[in-house]
Amino acid sequence: MLLTKNKEELRKEAIKKRVDVNFITSINEISSKILSKILNMDVFKHAKNIALYYPIKGEIDLLALLKIQNKNFYFPKCNILNLEFLKYENEFINDKFNIPIPTGEKINPCDLDLIFVPALIANTKNYRLGYGKGFYDRFFSTNNIKAKKYIVISKLFINNDFTEDNFDIQCDGIICD
Ligand code: ADP
Ligand code: MG
Repeated sequence: MLLTKNKEELRKEAIKKRVDVNFITSINEISSKILSKILNMDVFKHAKNIALYYPIKGEIDLLALLKIQNKNFYFPKCNILNLEFLKYENEFINDKFNIPIPTGEKINPCDLDLIFVPALIANTKNYRLGYGKGFYDRFFSTNNIKAKKYIVISKLFINNDFTEDNFDIQCDGIICD
């Protein structure tokens, strides 16, 4: 109970901090730094099928990666409890939650090579806090995922004040500015 509250408090703080004008004005610079790191990662260079996310409300913007040729990019669509990843084919449409989603086919999760995971907070053990619905935890635990999973976040949101729950799935690394 106490741990859940702690996660919830941290989420609220992060949501507030992410829409703060100081953070919003630096988000382009932070995103650029993270993009350069990604472009230098061997795991990115070798990956063919890559899961991104559409940046909303202060999330790091990786959309510049879509210009890269010879890779396939996928974006999440939230169903009632589960995520599926749809192929980007040069356009987005809005889903019923007004979140942009691509128009292509759903990928079999085990065919993804690399997954960039958005987060409100991450700890240095590569665990994350999302919005509290466990979408990524469920996606990782109910599919046969071979992909490397990297949390994408500003260093301003790395925080060791939360303890992961036993259903939280550990990622393979954090990419930050
Ligand atoms: P988030 O990961 O979005 O920060 P939480 O880790 O707090 O959110 O998880 C939210 C809820 O999702 C939890 O109450 C948990 O019971 C549920 N959940 C997480 N992983 C699974 C799973 N593999 N199967 C079923 N429910 C899960
Ligand atoms: Mg979780």
